[in-house]
Amino acid sequence: MPELPEVEAVVRTLRPLVQGQKIRCVHVFHPIAVKPQSASHLVQFATGRRIQQVDRRGKYVLLVLDRGLITLHFRLDGQLVWFSDAAELLGRANVRENSVHVDVAFEFAKGVLGFADPRHFGRVHAWESPKDSSGLASLGIDALSKDFTIARFRELLAASVRPLKDFLLDQTRVAGLGNIYSCESLWHARLDPRRRAKSLKPEEARRLHKAIVSVLARALECCLHPAPDFRDSQWWFQGLEKILRTYGREGEPCRRCGTAIQRIEQGGRSTYFCRRCQK
Ligand SMILES: [Zn+2]
Repeated sequence: MPELPEVEAVVRTLRPLVQGQKIRCVHVFHPIAVKPQSASHLVQFATGRRIQQVDRRGKYVLLVLDRGLITLHFRLDGQLVWFSDAAELLGRANVRENSVHVDVAFEFAKGVLGFADPRHFGRVHAWESPKDSSGLASLGIDALSKDFTIARFRELLAASVRPLKDFLLDQTRVAGLGNIYSCESLWHARLDPRRRAKSLKPEEARRLHKAIVSVLARALECCLHPAPDFRDSQWWFQGLEKILRTYGREGEPCRRCGTAIQRIEQGGRSTYFCRRCQK
C-alpha cells in the first residue's frame, strides 16, 4: 500500500507532466472509482479546467484546478498510467484480456493520465473546496511538512492513550504513515508499539520524531531512484525491502540485537517488532 514516500514520489513525477495543463476531457470507465460521487459529476466538474498545482497531503494526491480540486487516493494498490494520446488510451485500456486496466482518464493536449485500481478501492473525487472532502479536512499534520515539529508531536502524543502503533496510523493526528513506515519508525526509535502514546518521556518522543523523519526521507530517496514510470502499467517501486528493518521480517533476526522479530495483531493489522530492544 502506498504511504507518504510513495505518494510523494508519484506527485514529483506527475507534476512536470500535468501542471499547467488543461483537462480536455474526462473518461470514466469504471464509475465505482468515483463513488460516492457520480461519473457525470467528475466529467462536468473537470472538463475544461486547468491544473494549477499538483500537491500531496498525507496519502492524497491533489490536482488543484483553476476552480476546485481533484483528489486521488490509491488505497491498497491504485496507481497512475500515462498514454501518449487518446488513441493509445482507447486502443489499450480495458479492451481485452491483458489490456491495461484504467478506471478514470484525464486527457490533455500532450498526453493522457489514467488512474487504475483493478481492485477498485482507490478513489478519484472532485471538490469545490478542500473543506468539502471529509478525508482531507480531517487530516492531521503532514509528516513531511515543516509543521511536523517535535513540540507539536509531543502535544499530540500527550493527548492520546492509544498504543503507539495505532496512534501513528491515525491520519487525523500525523498524516502519511501507514503500516510499514510506522513499524519501521518504532524500531528505529527502539519503542514498543504497544506502549500508550501519552506514556512517552520527552527523550523518547524526540527519538520517535527523529525516526519518523529519517525513515520517510530514506524511503522517499529510494522511491525516487528510479522514479515512477507511468508508461509501464506494471511498474512498482523497487528496492524498498532493502531499507526495511522489521516489516515483513517475522522470525528473522533483529538487525540490532539478533532476537527474532515478532509479529502481533494490532487494530486488525500486523505489527512487526523486536521484543528485546523495543521498550
Ligand atoms: Zn532487537
